[in-house]
Amino acid sequence: MLVCPSCATGHEDGERFCGRCGVPLVQAEPQALPQSERHDRARKIRPQYAEGPLVKVVGARNQSEGELLQGMLLEEGVPSLMRRSGGFDVPDFLASGPRDILVPSSGAAAARDILQLPAPGPGLGTVSGEGTPAWVKAMAVALTVVILALIAAGVYAAVF
Ligand SMILES: [Zn+2]
Repeated sequence: MLVCPSCATGHEDGERFCGRCGVPLVQAEPQALPQSERHDRARKIRPQYAEGPLVKVVGARNQSEGELLQGMLLEEGVPSLMRRSGGFDVPDFLASGPRDILVPSSGAAAARDILQLPAPGPGLGTVSGEGTPAWVKAMAVALTVVILALIAAGVYAAVF
């Protein structure tokens, strides 16, 4: 199958130039993604992770990091979409610039599990939020230590 590189009209194998533009014909490009690979992807995706509106679960620094994350998600059956993070007005063909990884909301929890991200805090909804702030955890640990020390002191005082 030959195709015109200018207007994309298909031509018979015997022709050499496009009947509309006169441009030399080229071999038709194979599909961007081989059929078998597309089937593989579709088979990996678990339907229960493919429902609901898309939510952002993680950001990637660039396209290749994003593709790596997408691959990790797909291995576990979570379909995902990568898109350029807002506010970075770089032409689409450039691989640089941060990306957002979005997954269907039914797969968001699984995606965070796979990527070992903190779950969003209560009340934050589907917006990717921070986990418990570090100072809260530190405070809880400190309180526990103080309480244990008080108990130990009380036991010591009672026994001796
Ligand atoms: Zn043409």
